[in-house]
Amino acid sequence: MASRLAVPVLPGRLSGMRGELRDEHGRVMRDLRVSITDRCNFRCVYCLPETEEAANFYRTRFDALRNPRPAKSIPLNYEWKPKHEILRFEEIERVVRVAVSLGIQKVRVTGGEPLLRRDVAQLIAALARIPGVEDLAMTTNGFLFGEKAEALRTAGLRRVSISLDSLDRGRFQTMTGRDGLPAALAAIEQAQRLGFAPVKVNAVIIGGMNDHEIEALAEFARDRRLSLRFIEFMPLDSNRAWQRDLVVSGRTILERLRARFELVPVAGHPTETARRWAFADGSGEIGIIAPVTEPFCGHCNRLRLTADGKIRTCLFSLEEHDLRPWLREESSDEALAERLIEIVTHKEAGHRIGQPDFVQPARTMSCIGG
Ligand code: SAM
Ligand code: SF4
Repeated sequence: MASRLAVPVLPGRLSGMRGELRDEHGRVMRDLRVSITDRCNFRCVYCLPETEEAANFYRTRFDALRNPRPAKSIPLNYEWKPKHEILRFEEIERVVRVAVSLGIQKVRVTGGEPLLRRDVAQLIAALARIPGVEDLAMTTNGFLFGEKAEALRTAGLRRVSISLDSLDRGRFQTMTGRDGLPAALAAIEQAQRLGFAPVKVNAVIIGGMNDHEIEALAEFARDRRLSLRFIEFMPLDSNRAWQRDLVVSGRTILERLRARFELVPVAGHPTETARRWAFADGSGEIGIIAPVTEPFCGHCNRLRLTADGKIRTCLFSLEEHDLRPWLREESSDEALAERLIEIVTHKEAGHRIGQPDFVQPARTMSCIGG
């Protein structure tokens, strides 16, 4: 159980809009990513690898790079959080409601794999009812989407991002640890049929693993009228096997795509993480998210809530801020709002990837919520 900390119950300062989540660098938070579970039914090489194939891939690459790491077997060095530490739906809803009263407009439900959470549609319905949530989306691996999609749509989910790193069934399995390509493709089709819009597809590109599929993935997006996001591999994997040499830069991805397709830039909002391009001769769109080689920290407006109730002000934060005392002890919404404001003030100026003092966070993408 949460320790009994003394939690200040501050007098209600403001009603309705309580102020805003502005950090000391002048950035105002508008986007909250909510991880609702740290568990996952996949074992992606770049996130939670535990498969022999992942081990072999890294072993081969590291040998090639003359790096002795990792050792023979790669154990899963992560333990799921006990259930009582995971936020209940009403606790998540409360954090979102208070955050929205402080200016958050976009909410993305993620994980781990969010569809593993029983009755997830009930949470979506509760979040969709919060006045001020302008954009409610979910990121999923799609494996369980078939059985939950209609309930999610009815509950008020409008947008969905589905992960798809390869169009080859064997490689998909190597990359995710599951024979999940048919389910992912079916999920994409079903999301389009049910009117989720836009349907986004996320592909993490890793050198020597799926980079030869860049053009094929883009073609898939064009043919199916999808928004495809190519994402650079970030050092957030559970084995700490990430190496700079495995990152395929956004620039390389773009050069490859431009050699094959005529692309037209799409103007986006300055706080968007993706640089976007449309196909001159078709529908669909691609976006390139390059946090490693072209950091967008200067205009980052995101906050993250982990499944166990910690606020992270950066993907690469080394410090987390536990909200559970504010949620599980007697504490007013005003006190929770004050706490959020205080946490955000000290948001990191930016990540330190590539700097000599870079330290990979203890928790992986699956726990942080991508
Ligand atoms: N399980 C869901 C899924 O895979 O879509 C949601 C959670 S997952 C952590 C969210 C996104 O983070 C996925 O699109 C995944 O590809 C991406 N991701 C995970 N680890 C990553 C890494 N090390 N670098 C870049 N993207 C990563
Ligand atoms: Fe699971 Fe998503 Fe991480 Fe893959 S990327 S292991 S599906 S949380």
